[in-house]
Amino acid sequence: MRYVSTRDLDGQSASFSDILLTGLAPDGGLFLPEHYPQVDSATLARWRRVLDEDGYAALGTEILSLYIDDIPTDDLRGICERAWNGEVFATDEVVRVSKLPESSDENGGIWLAHLSDGPTAAFKDMAMQLLGQLFEYELARRGTTMTILGATSGDTGSAAEHAMLGREGIDVFMLTPAGRMTPFQQAQMFSIDDPHIHNIAVAGVFDDCQDLVKAVNGDAEFKQRHRLGAVNSINWARLVAQVVYYFAAWLRVTSALGSDDRDTRQVSFAVPTGNFGNICAGHIARQMGLPIKHLVLATNENDVLDEFFRTGVYRVRASSETAQTSSPSMDISKASNFERFVFDLLGRDVARLRKRFVDQLGNEGEFDLSMTPEFATLGERFGFLSGSSNHADRVMTMRGLHADGVLVDPHTADGITVARDFRAEEPMIVLETALPVKFAETVVEATGVEPEVPQRFAGLLEADRHVDDLPNDAAALKEYIAARV
Ligand SMILES: *Cc1c(COP(=O)(O)O)cnc(C)c1O
Repeated sequence: MRYVSTRDLDGQSASFSDILLTGLAPDGGLFLPEHYPQVDSATLARWRRVLDEDGYAALGTEILSLYIDDIPTDDLRGICERAWNGEVFATDEVVRVSKLPESSDENGGIWLAHLSDGPTAAFKDMAMQLLGQLFEYELARRGTTMTILGATSGDTGSAAEHAMLGREGIDVFMLTPAGRMTPFQQAQMFSIDDPHIHNIAVAGVFDDCQDLVKAVNGDAEFKQRHRLGAVNSINWARLVAQVVYYFAAWLRVTSALGSDDRDTRQVSFAVPTGNFGNICAGHIARQMGLPIKHLVLATNENDVLDEFFRTGVYRVRASSETAQTSSPSMDISKASNFERFVFDLLGRDVARLRKRFVDQLGNEGEFDLSMTPEFATLGERFGFLSGSSNHADRVMTMRGLHADGVLVDPHTADGITVARDFRAEEPMIVLETALPVKFAETVVEATGVEPEVPQRFAGLLEADRHVDDLPNDAAALKEYIAARV
């Protein structure tokens, strides 16, 4: 399999291991495979046996080997087994599914796919654990090392640190906005005591942290000398890792429903969305032939993406226009993975893509596809539906479910809220993206009870903190990094 950039007019291609460590394409575009491998119902039937008999990592190996042909399959199997197992995740199943109690049986009901049983209790572990194993493997193969510099508002940073912890040849420098993450998110990062993991609290907000990362990366000499790399959500390996759980969730729900037509049964997915990363993997799974009827995109008050799917206008927000909400991991002003979907929507026409993303977005901060034939047929061809949720909605959803004995986090509540609006005829799988314990304040507001702290996080909030304070200053950050790697 070869990979192309969404912005490359020459259509040059690269291999998986070349794009693994680079992230963004040199032309500023995002990498996508030249085509999506197709699976039919016979393959799905075989994968059902693979998942049942050999487990999640074995299914992952099957799917990943369609996209990765420059890592020997035996090595890839080892990578998947080390990333996805019952020691890293809370269950041997890795991704459980459960049915919501309210669901009627007629249409198959509303299900949760539990993506947050990993080390940091958010779905980002699903992809980040694989990335850690892939990076370690590829760096060793090339005989080199890497310094990961990132900024986080919460979930990404802790997932990255826990995935890179102990991986040979990797140092992590993670910037956080001082005092702005939830107590649990802070504890997850700052409790790590390891010479290769560096937590930095910047006197500023998340945007300042991101600007610092950009400024340091803008110094080409520094970047090269310290072999700076990233783990951001536009990395293709993260997406392909996420494709696996769409297949696993579909297999588990259709098995549980037990109908004769299970290998062709259509289900829909509802996905709480920020950067369009999670749901982009659903788009890819659907393009591969997984029987997905609808992909229901759910935003919070920051409804950039809902607006696009309703109106055809994609308008990036200024950070001053980006609301701080009670589902903070979806507080985005621009969806970094969205370009991939638009590339497919526009028939992979690089010139048209560039006109929208480079010219119009660059100059005007928005583009409008409402008058294009592609937008007119978008829902039908790509299955997307969209909606948004707000604080009152998510609190109501959490409160109602809690009365029925189910506790969900605010982001998952956004997904459920929007999914219910489209009460579909087919089974609906909502992707659970975090455990309630990560967002205790909102859980208490909604339900009046403190979320349970899973056994594996006991004592975390009391652990010693390992974090250094830095001013909002690129020179100080460079000095800090240079003194440590
Ligand atoms: C990152 C995150 C999201 C949004 O995922 P995207 O891939 O950015 O769309 C939703 N919920 C939680 C809990 C997250 O951490």
